[in-house]
Amino acid sequence: MKAVITGGAGFIGSHLCDHLIAQGHEVIVLDDLSTGSLSNLSQLEGSAKLRFVQGDILDRELVDELVAEADTVFHLAAAVGVYNIVDNPLRSLRINLHGTENIVEAAVKHRVPYMIASTSEVYGKNDADGLKENDDRIYGSPIKSRWSYAAAKGLDELVAYVHGVESGVPCVITRFFNVVGPRQTGRYGMVVPRFVDQALSDEPITVYGTGTQRRCFGSVFDVVPQLTKLMDTPEAYNQAVNLGGREEVSIKGLADRVVELTGSGSAISYIDYEQAYGEGYEDMQRRYPDTSLAARLIGYEPTRDLNDIIGSIVEHRRSADPVPAPV
Ligand code: UDP
Repeated sequence: MKAVITGGAGFIGSHLCDHLIAQGHEVIVLDDLSTGSLSNLSQLEGSAKLRFVQGDILDRELVDELVAEADTVFHLAAAVGVYNIVDNPLRSLRINLHGTENIVEAAVKHRVPYMIASTSEVYGKNDADGLKENDDRIYGSPIKSRWSYAAAKGLDELVAYVHGVESGVPCVITRFFNVVGPRQTGRYGMVVPRFVDQALSDEPITVYGTGTQRRCFGSVFDVVPQLTKLMDTPEAYNQAVNLGGREEVSIKGLADRVVELTGSGSAISYIDYEQAYGEGYEDMQRRYPDTSLAARLIGYEPTRDLNDIIGSIVEHRRSADPVPAPV
């Protein structure tokens, strides 16, 4: 099989490249290297199975040309990270709306099965105990750019779904719940790599708000193999499928755990949301996935707990960017 992975030099995309190439498939990566990095693919350097194309998903001709060659498309390219979305609202919207439309239209035109990556953000402020795929979206005001990512991803899902239904081309929508692991950068806001980097350099750990907000982090190593399984499962077509972890933790609890596991001397520093993200920011107090649909469809069962997840990131950061041991 030959797969196109948009955003293949990003965090999740690069792990999907590893996975597909390990299974003997060929991969074409389309990435503009805006938030992704070639270093995420350095382990595959020299592989005849990998072709890297630096380009933009807004470039319709390029997208059409690459998709025409493929047997499957995994669409992971997006403007991601809260800082990025809040600082570049227009570019983020264009990429997340028109970019996805280009991919889906090319996939349908060439009848290539496609997966598009969505996010637990589509549930907005719904903090139900175990969010199910058909649960309601609860968004704040549409003119708060904080919600533009969620709104765009919601529309992406609809575009993918309606095209899938009308064309009969296999389509799967995956909703990632705080998927984390090695290679994720904290530069655009993601909390776990930020806390790990802060702990490893004995800097204050920046907890936003009260730290009582809760998340459930999923391991990229648990999640990525599910993407190919879903594409091989006709019952998954035209469905949105939650993928994430099991262990819920408050953000203060996460900070404590990172300090404990790294043996860091970092203190915890509480920062107002406004100071962190600008005026009018709204956070989700809780986001916990119900992954029973993935369990039914493909037998999904996350196996890594929070300690494993943090441990894998610490190990990666220590080897990638050694930090001198504290004296
Ligand atoms: N967060 C934090 N400190 C940071 C970065 C993020 O306390 O340095 C908080 C953030 O406000 C949110 C949680 O951690 O409550 C998860 O943030 P992230 O951006 O990783 O994911 P999302 O908000 O999409 O769940």
